[in-house]
Amino acid sequence: MAKLYFRYSAMNAGKTTQLLQVKYNYEERGQNVLLIKPSTDERDGNESIKSRIGLESQAVVIAYDTDLRALVGDFNKIQSIHCVIIDEAQFLARAQVMQLCRIVDDANIPVIAYGLRSDFKGNLFPGSEALLAFSDSIEELKTICWCGKKAIMNTRLLDGKPVYEGEQILIGGNESYISLCRKHWYEGKVGPC
Ligand SMILES: [Zn+2]
Repeated sequence: MAKLYFRYSAMNAGKTTQLLQVKYNYEERGQNVLLIKPSTDERDGNESIKSRIGLESQAVVIAYDTDLRALVGDFNKIQSIHCVIIDEAQFLARAQVMQLCRIVDDANIPVIAYGLRSDFKGNLFPGSEALLAFSDSIEELKTICWCGKKAIMNTRLLDGKPVYEGEQILIGGNESYISLCRKHWYEGKVGPC
């Protein structure tokens, strides 16, 4: 029986590296993988996904209202899809997570979704909230804070300083993100000095 997997982490834990490795493993056995990435800026089409250690693969970029059941069905008519992998799954709409459940339960195709659990304010992303509620398997990919403790929070930096207010998704902003442990996220301490 196929399952819906949600593999979450803070930023920079190697999610993209792992998902590209999983895709490679399927393809090495002659199986077809559909790699999907939600768009945060309304663009759709194809996009190259790159991991920080140099792996790269083409993904189908989807909009917030793309019907994933129909999309996967269309690809499945051209060639059998053995696995669906989602990058940046936190940006899925709740309705799209429900469509992933149908792909798993009705079409018996496993779906592996990789994404962030919470935003820089500590709120769940809508896609992650739905994935936490509906996934068969939930796994954490771990990374560490500068202090050595597990990093579970994402901190938004503007000009190097942590901020705690603002939109959940910034388009084309000059912000950056680091992952911190909860204590250092709360204190806004982004490094040892
Ligand atoms: Zn820390």
